[in-house]
Amino acid sequence: MTEETEQEAAYVCVRCRRDVSLNPIKDRIVCPKCSERVILKKRPKTPKRVVAR
Ligand SMILES: [Zn+2]
Repeated sequence: MTEETEQEAAYVCVRCRRDVSLNPIKDRIVCPKCSERVILKKRPKTPKRVVAR
């Protein structure tokens, strides 16, 4: 049972290779850095983000 979370999905722009956090449902899929429309979804290695102190 896979459930999409409300968290920001991890995407990467194919042009500038920058990490892009966006909501494809609410936001347009476009890179905020270079306006590239081709954004690849990437799988996070870890489900939770570890906050470095
Ligand atoms: Zn970009």
